[in-house]
Amino acid sequence: MTFYESVKGGQGEILPMEIITAVRGFKDILPPETEKWRHVEETARKVFGAFGFHEIRIPLLEKTELFCRGIGETTDIVEKEMYTFLDRGEESLTLRPEATASVIRAYLEHAVHAAETVTRLFTIGPMFRRERPQKGRYRQFHQIDAEILGPDDPRTDAELILMLIHFLDRLGLAKLNLEINSLGCLECRPAFREAVISFLGSQAEELCGDCRRRLGTNPLRVFDCKVEKCGEIISRAPRLNSFICGDCRTHFEGVQEGLRLFGVPYRLNDQMVRGLDYYTRTTFEVTAEHLGAQNAVVGGGRYDHLVRDLGGPDIPGIGFAIGFERLISMIPESGEDAPQGPLLFIAALGEKAAERAFILGNRLRMNGVHVEMDYAGRSLKSQMKKADRLRCAYALILGEREIQDNKALLRNMRESAQEEVCLDDLENTIMTLAR
Ligand code: AMP
Repeated sequence: MTFYESVKGGQGEILPMEIITAVRGFKDILPPETEKWRHVEETARKVFGAFGFHEIRIPLLEKTELFCRGIGETTDIVEKEMYTFLDRGEESLTLRPEATASVIRAYLEHAVHAAETVTRLFTIGPMFRRERPQKGRYRQFHQIDAEILGPDDPRTDAELILMLIHFLDRLGLAKLNLEINSLGCLECRPAFREAVISFLGSQAEELCGDCRRRLGTNPLRVFDCKVEKCGEIISRAPRLNSFICGDCRTHFEGVQEGLRLFGVPYRLNDQMVRGLDYYTRTTFEVTAEHLGAQNAVVGGGRYDHLVRDLGGPDIPGIGFAIGFERLISMIPESGEDAPQGPLLFIAALGEKAAERAFILGNRLRMNGVHVEMDYAGRSLKSQMKKADRLRCAYALILGEREIQDNKALLRNMRESAQEEVCLDDLENTIMTLAR
């Protein structure tokens, strides 16, 4: 029995089919929302381009090992959240939960490092994590990701953060907080780690089950825990600040100096460890208070050993990932870059007028003018209503009489003024308005 037959009623009666909905945590993005998305993408391309970034496009699917090695076996993402499956029972593949590991895989696979000493790449696309869906948290979400590979100069860190803040500014976003921290390096982190283990060990009874387990596998991940009691214990835990080595301290001061030079406001947060294992030294987050529980908009940091851990040479790197959905939810409705409506609506009345509109409208479209029209033969009133709803700049009213007289009314929708135009000149007139 086919699925279709199974939903048929008892006496050969056909019941209406149920619609198939999207997978939980996977969301459609419909127009006009897509216009906003495009606007954000175009702004990112412009801003990042001026800072010397080039776009890279990478696959959605990677070998699972890439993320285990890259992000860390004992992170929440790898332990619990990845969409991993055996491809025809042969190879373990994973839908990418983040982009940095993939960017570096491509960078190494194509030996980009052999051709240039500094590489600046960005990519925009969907990521997949099997988290519990809620407002601002999805299982397929999108990130704008930027990475700089090569330099470890603190000015690079400051420059990347400056670009990020400038980008958010260009989108008109307000009330954002930038928090920064230094996670130290392989030299100074072990002593900090030991201190954390010994402190948390003495409080183990009070920690949640996950954190007790993390204590043995990856103690710094305890800092990510969202359980209230764990948060209270962690607030009393040793701070990396007291363990950080001279080189890391100088580096971090250099980053802050760079930010101050450009008047970028920031707050030091020495509890921010970020949820991925590969970070070293500078880490940062941008949060927005009014977003509620899921208030992190951007996360980023330096990863000086990731390239090596993924089988490449010792090349330092730094990057960030912006959460697209959270960013979009904060974009003001109207702004100077707000998407515009069509230039022209052709309201045709009668068959002859519809035929003329069909030719004229499509010719203008082929010249790049955004034209809307309607072949349903509706009344003038309902067509003008539609032109208004679409926010068209002009409406051309074309009836049988207008065709006979070889002229039509062109209405300026914003100024509510209209003028008569000769149909022979119409294309030229509209093309002039489009310029
Ligand atoms: P991460 O890659 O975990 O550092 O996250 C970077 C940014 O991606 C976060 O600050 C969020 O804005 C966004 N993000 C991460 N996970 C999700 C999710 N499940 N749903 C929506 N946005 C997310």
